[in-house]
Amino acid sequence: MATKEPLIIRDKTQMTKWSRTMRSQSKLIALVPTMGYLHQGHLSLITEAHKHANVVAVSIYVNPGQFSPNEDLSTYPSDFQGDIQKLMSVPGGVDVVFNPKNLYDYGDSDSGEGGDGDGGVGVVSCIEKSGLGHESWVRVEKLEKGLCGKSRPIFFRGVATIVTKLFNIVEPDFAFFGKKDYQQWRLIQRMVRDLDFSIKVIGCEITRENDGLAMSSRNVHLSPEEREKALSINKSLSKAKSAVEDGQVQCEKLRNLVIQCITEAGGTIDYAEIVDQHSLEKVELIKGPVVFCVAALFGKVRLIDNMEINL
Ligand code: AMP
Repeated sequence: MATKEPLIIRDKTQMTKWSRTMRSQSKLIALVPTMGYLHQGHLSLITEAHKHANVVAVSIYVNPGQFSPNEDLSTYPSDFQGDIQKLMSVPGGVDVVFNPKNLYDYGDSDSGEGGDGDGGVGVVSCIEKSGLGHESWVRVEKLEKGLCGKSRPIFFRGVATIVTKLFNIVEPDFAFFGKKDYQQWRLIQRMVRDLDFSIKVIGCEITRENDGLAMSSRNVHLSPEEREKALSINKSLSKAKSAVEDGQVQCEKLRNLVIQCITEAGGTIDYAEIVDQHSLEKVELIKGPVVFCVAALFGKVRLIDNMEINL
């Protein structure tokens, strides 16, 4: 049964005002940051949010700050009206959808001269090129470097910065992130700890299609054949997990198993790493909890997935 329509707020000042009104009524506020084109994975975060908070805000904002110029910002899928319908299908719905137009446009006299520096990471982001004058970035120095950070060098400073901006605008008590983006979740947890945000970050389990494919807004770009091949990611991770449970603790062997399975299916590996669940540092021999993280390309579509292995 559809719930009531959420309030849609596009202005950041209005967003803060709403949150402060809620807080003045002693309501606990949850924030679920998303880039839209919602699926069941996003909706599972909202269901979780209802367990912790009295009111739920969902942000829908495709953050240009985390895309390099050669990445898929312009083709990132969107369907705002469809998203609202999906949000209304969640039991309890959501109270607010924060859908700003441009969180890097400050509309002030300072915005005339965009920097063209490379931010120290070798890639000029579209924000810096935009002439809007944004030049402040949040970096989580170690956690941003490995895994996805290797092939996407400005990605995590973009994520940490936009999440900081959203935290400052929405002022939530809780924020919900999917373990599907494991490195992102751990990095935000670290940022919140290091920078003393009074926000509890909650990681939510990966939602999968019936055949095991991790739900992702990008799956829509897969052809039926590519989608079939992409099942090799989850299948090989499950095999690796079973192998660990059967006593195989050598990461080299486990990595080879996954790499071979995905490559044979026609995928191109970006990385397949077994890392510590908190530091995300590489592990050679499994002695405790680890997470096996994979990124692979099927056609032009880059997919990520992971599996926690708790020995
Ligand atoms: P995105 O719109 O891709 O930026 O995702 C917004 C949030 O939804 C992030 O915290 C993601 O980790 C989370 N998310 C995306 N896909 C899934 C999934 N299949 N299962 C659980 N959480 C997900």
